[in-house]
Amino acid sequence: MSTKADGGEVRRHNLGIVLDAVAPGVVTSRAEVAAATGLTKATVSSLVADLVAAGILEHGADPRPPGAGRPATPVRRRALAVTGLGVEITARHGRVAEVDLAGSVVDHPAVDLTPAATTSPAATVAALAGPIAEAVRARVGAGGAVAGVAVAVPGLVAPGGREVVVAPTLGWEDVGLADLLETEIGRQLDAHGIAAPAVEVANEANDAALAEFRRGVGHDGGVRSMLYLSVGTGVGAGIVIDGEVFAGAHGFGGELGHMIVVPGGTRCSCGKRGCLETVIGGATDPAAAITSEAVEALAVALATAVDLFDPEVVVLGGRLQVHAAALTAAVQAAIDQRALGARWVGYRVEAGVLGPRAAVLGAADRALDAVRLDPRRSPLLTAAP
Ligand SMILES: [Zn+2]
Repeated sequence: MSTKADGGEVRRHNLGIVLDAVAPGVVTSRAEVAAATGLTKATVSSLVADLVAAGILEHGADPRPPGAGRPATPVRRRALAVTGLGVEITARHGRVAEVDLAGSVVDHPAVDLTPAATTSPAATVAALAGPIAEAVRARVGAGGAVAGVAVAVPGLVAPGGREVVVAPTLGWEDVGLADLLETEIGRQLDAHGIAAPAVEVANEANDAALAEFRRGVGHDGGVRSMLYLSVGTGVGAGIVIDGEVFAGAHGFGGELGHMIVVPGGTRCSCGKRGCLETVIGGATDPAAAITSEAVEALAVALATAVDLFDPEVVVLGGRLQVHAAALTAAVQAAIDQRALGARWVGYRVEAGVLGPRAAVLGAADRALDAVRLDPRRSPLLTAAP
């Protein structure tokens, strides 16, 4: 038994309670936080002090008019001090964005990856490391810090988030992407005396599902489970069960795009024949009409997935959003017809609300999760003298 560890756990828990009591965009006071949480004012003061030191909260001006009584000690979430940096790699470009716990989102310029992403991982790393290092340097220059870099890739990622096992649309196999990026970002930041944040890689559909769950379709907290379909150059699915992304035993789950819908059909980038991706994905024009054959194939795959996971809502994201109005109705009808439970529960089909930014925003959120769960892991605290 470890009393010290237990005490640490209580403090971590209480830091989370206090943080939750200071909603993004709201100015409150320590007294109000104490009243809302049931913690003593002394405890709240101590916890708020920790969160201020971590760069997550800050004291603001008293929002009440002068003469309205004894001055409160206003407290709010601090914007753009500690951020998570998300990166999405597609066959065409890299997206980079930063988020914080105060609700800010900073979109950095997209990086052209044609043809880097499909020629070699080294070319992709060379193209991306500069803009990432520059974003980290700018954040540190402004008095903040980047807590982590999370990368979303269209492929299977080995447990631990270091290696891309296979990314068919990029032509990548067994790529130690996290190591490659950390080395190159570190080399560039070393020159400025800045410690490089750790890099963690995950599947893009899982990140997009996370973002739609937290910020998009599920943002109001009314949704606990979701099946997210991402159609870009490839096709992937992200599954959210009980508020958590479900990636499977090996992190390989959700590969709906490689579900065989036409046995013996067209050869897929993965080497198999007749995958859903050969019917609806591929390098087709984003604005091109989706054929009835594609809708049919999509319906078969989605109805099967709905039968397996019984989600509350099916979200159509990625390129599908271009066709949202027509597609949601068609997919809704198909699921109503095919999913066994549909007669009783009425599965909802909705277009994603985050558009093509879903994956990069989910990655950025993921990069900040360690600090969100334990504010004592803020890089501003560890950087303190
Ligand atoms: Zn395939």
